[in-house]
Amino acid sequence: MSGTRELLMLENFIDGKFLPCHSYIDSYDPSTGEVYCKVPNSGKEEIEAAVEAARAAFPSWSSCSPHERSQVLNRLADLLEQSLEDLAQAESKDQGKTLTMARTIDIPRSVQNFRFFASSSLHHTTESTQVDYLGCLHYTMRTPVGIAGLISPWNLPLYLLTWKIAPAIAAGNTVIAKPSELTSVTAWMLCKLLNKAGVPPGVVNIVFGTGPKVGEALVSHPEVPLISFTGSQPTAERITQLSAPFCKKLSLELGGKNPAIIFEDANLDECIPATVRSSFTNQGEICLCTSRVFVQKSIYNEFLKRFVEATRKWKVSIPSDPSASMGALISKAHLEKVRSYIKKACAEGAKILCGEGVDRLSLPPRNQAGYFMLPTVITDIKDESCCMQEEIFGPVTCVVPFDSEEEVIRRANNVKYGLAATVWSGNVGRIHRVAQKLQSGLVWTNCWMIRELNLPFGGMKYSGIGREGAKDSHDFFTEIKTITVKY
Ligand code: NAD
Repeated sequence: MSGTRELLMLENFIDGKFLPCHSYIDSYDPSTGEVYCKVPNSGKEEIEAAVEAARAAFPSWSSCSPHERSQVLNRLADLLEQSLEDLAQAESKDQGKTLTMARTIDIPRSVQNFRFFASSSLHHTTESTQVDYLGCLHYTMRTPVGIAGLISPWNLPLYLLTWKIAPAIAAGNTVIAKPSELTSVTAWMLCKLLNKAGVPPGVVNIVFGTGPKVGEALVSHPEVPLISFTGSQPTAERITQLSAPFCKKLSLELGGKNPAIIFEDANLDECIPATVRSSFTNQGEICLCTSRVFVQKSIYNEFLKRFVEATRKWKVSIPSDPSASMGALISKAHLEKVRSYIKKACAEGAKILCGEGVDRLSLPPRNQAGYFMLPTVITDIKDESCCMQEEIFGPVTCVVPFDSEEEVIRRANNVKYGLAATVWSGNVGRIHRVAQKLQSGLVWTNCWMIRELNLPFGGMKYSGIGREGAKDSHDFFTEIKTITVKY
């Protein structure tokens, strides 16, 4: 793929076969702003074909033993791992992220998603209760739901898509997946491995295209009883409306406006580099990224000085540069949206300490039209500002001071989202107190983004509904039934 000017043409994958589409969408290389790939612009017709294939594959796949399905998942993990370098190159080119990030995080985690669910799906148990005085034994059983609709975003393309496909098929469902139209390439590369891994035709169908067209066709299809969605809150609202007439099972993993709370007894040598990472990893395009940093007043000035110094060292460069900390943002429209927040902050009288409009970014001539921007730190900003309330989803973070524990908990909770929070302190009692009071599905203390896949992942409030993880994903992708036997 690299080095050629030929456009990469993707095809849908339905019933174990690659199928062309009537029309295509341009897909851009974010590091150059050039079109380099054509993505099928699918719609109802393709969803109809995928539903037919998924329906036909369901009886046999759902009646395989968990062990048989687990073997298929493990083979797929092995094949992905063998293609790790090609997938990493493709993910970095398609998304704009650094090659290092794709190589060390996105693709290894995609491999791990299949291995993890191949193993965890073998260890679920169900419940039973004996009620002697009624002479009854009650027990539960779980069965796959049917055809699962899986819709994923552009920030961690293969990582988040496989985090859905793996538990869905491990539990015996068949799936129709729709990756983001902005980042479809690695999903298409995954399709090439499915037959080889022994995934029967129709078990995994991948249909490409836009949200309003093919996404809505999937969500509105009466034979798709379950939708697992990761993306933005406004899209979730639309999906909820479209699903309502069918009473679909919904899992919604949405955005965040994540606080980092830094107390005066924090270890700043650890906290500062970690907060730079939590703010700017993947261009700040991770739902778990920090975007509001609350620092206790007594250390505010010292923190700010050192934080800005460290941010200036967070190198923005072309994605293939091994020394790059950050690559390009996903699209021109997104870059403009992120910049518009900085303009609004300036108009409100906030200060930009480094980054956009303050420092100069230098790029090779070929990348001048790419969607790059510098990591930006904003201060002197009010909690009510849109930069402190809305998800920017870019390399922008706001730093503000606070006085007391009670005050910072109230302010950290004062947003509509509740996904991930970070607390830095040397006081173990305080850590537990604050963690328990934060309205957040995840709280990291003295660290960031250490994930335990067994445990529930997901958000409160506008950050979503439902949780993903070993047991949570299994529960979501199965229906539970209670059976009573009178003896
Ligand atoms: P998005 O909502 O624009 O799109 C997500 C997916 O939904 C894409 O595949 C898109 O094509 C599809 N879509 C869009 N409109 C649709 C519609 N009307 N019907 C059906 N599908 C539709 O989100 P995005 O911009 O791709 O991703 C960024 C968002 O995702 C951010 O808000 C981020 O916080 C969130 N996110 C959340 C998590 C999490 O685990 N909580 C993880 C990653 C990203």
